[in-house]
Amino acid sequence: MALYEYRYDTFMKGSKRKIKDEIEKRKLDLDKPHDYIKNAKSQFTDEEINQSVCCPRCYSKKFYHKDEIDQIHTRHYSFEIENTFKTCMICFYSQDKAEYKKEKNNFWSRLKLLIKRP
Ligand SMILES: [Zn+2]
Repeated sequence: MALYEYRYDTFMKGSKRKIKDEIEKRKLDLDKPHDYIKNAKSQFTDEEINQSVCCPRCYSKKFYHKDEIDQIHTRHYSFEIENTFKTCMICFYSQDKAEYKKEKNNFWSRLKLLIKRP
């Protein structure tokens, strides 16, 4: 269901039909994806969720690791950082990546503050 909720629009026509068929076969209610996601959440304790045992968005336990290269450009030089993000196989959400982005933004805003200082 999370797959339908978060990624349905990204699939090609044929795959969309397969997803719909599967949903029909399992007699799931398309109008209530969040009920199913809430149901999936109830299988985990808050602690498990905090420890990233499952995906924080759809509560799936299926993950893969995705390597991504981030290019950082500054006025004088640019460099690349390679990251491996633990990513949800169902909804493609990555907590690792969200945290990396937050950290990166914090880093740059701190740096900007330093530079602006008189
Ligand atoms: Zn997910």
